[in-house]
Amino acid sequence: MPAPNLLPPEKVPPPKDGFAVGVLALQGSFWEHEVMLRRLGVAVREVRLPADLNGLAGLIIPGGESTTIGKLAVAFGLLEPLRAFGREHAIWGTCAGAIFLSRDARRSQPLLGLMNITVERNAFGRQIASFEADIPVPALKTVAPADERPFRAVFIRAPLIETVTPPAEVLATLDDGRIVAAQQGHLLATAFHPELTDDTRFHRYFLHLAGWAAAASP
Ligand code: GLN
Repeated sequence: MPAPNLLPPEKVPPPKDGFAVGVLALQGSFWEHEVMLRRLGVAVREVRLPADLNGLAGLIIPGGESTTIGKLAVAFGLLEPLRAFGREHAIWGTCAGAIFLSRDARRSQPLLGLMNITVERNAFGRQIASFEADIPVPALKTVAPADERPFRAVFIRAPLIETVTPPAEVLATLDDGRIVAAQQGHLLATAFHPELTDDTRFHRYFLHLAGWAAAASP
């Protein structure tokens, strides 16, 4: 069943026919990402099997539980196809998805290893230590040049991005300098959950990386 359009559409020109983005739908908050993407007028496909990746411009790996997502990706034969997809296409991992994109999470679990970042899982404590923070993300100027607002970042049992090594770059930090978002070319990792806000800037930034130029319209 497709996610409903719960939110009003944004005034962004729709992407051209054939532009579709996938959301890895093995476990976690894939539904919420779908709602955001549909709100922007983007065709969305849930990805569960390697063939589902065919023809997609990019892929979002949602938050959830990274060990579970990793184990299911192994069971569905997705690990190598996802690595191959990520060498050519945009991938954005939120929270557990960011962990899955990393090359080291300090414990033994299946990782894509596509991004030159290392993470510490559950770095902020237990579920009850979840929090929200307004953080500056200068890169979002690409899609919203006139928008001065910080980004409301929702952290749910979030990881910390411990190290970011070139070609990966730091995209955002907390006030104390701890890294919570990184980018490596067309690959994006956020420790927080933009799909749980009503701010579409991060989704538009990702869509821009996926090749939808109009996503950058203010
Ligand atoms: N704690 C989860 C993990 O380590 C991530 C939490 C989330 O995605 N919100 O996989």
